[in-house]
Amino acid sequence: MILPIQTGQDNPILRQEAKEVKEITTQIKQLVLDMIETMKAKDGIGLAAPQVGQLLQIIIAKPEPDKEALALINPQIKKTSRKKEIIEEGCLSLPNLSVPVTRSVKIIVQGLALNGQPVKIKAKGLLARIIQHEIDHLSGVLIVDKGL
Ligand code: ZN
Repeated sequence: MILPIQTGQDNPILRQEAKEVKEITTQIKQLVLDMIETMKAKDGIGLAAPQVGQLLQIIIAKPEPDKEALALINPQIKKTSRKKEIIEEGCLSLPNLSVPVTRSVKIIVQGLALNGQPVKIKAKGLLARIIQHEIDHLSGVLIVDKGL
């Protein structure tokens, strides 16, 4: 099901802390499937649960069109490279806006896969950028806050 996307930098849902997922229930799995469908429908490359109105720590990322989307529950960045890059980013919640954002080129992120297994991912480039962007959403941070 394609879910409506929360928009606007003053939207209170986009400005709150998302809660940890305690148990990966069938509802959570369905939410992830709906998020993936919604992201594809909107031509996005990443999405965080608060963007579809759910204040839960869930993100998805799809840096390459022909690869499956990556879903992470309760993601936490464990390490960021000192090397940073400035690239213009957009956000499905802030239509028609792009902002140059400084982010680490490489990161190590931990979380849970949809099957509940802990995962640790070393990401670089676009995937690292998407993950950092989506994890910002989980603490109510938007690209307009990042500046240079
Ligand atoms: Zn966003």
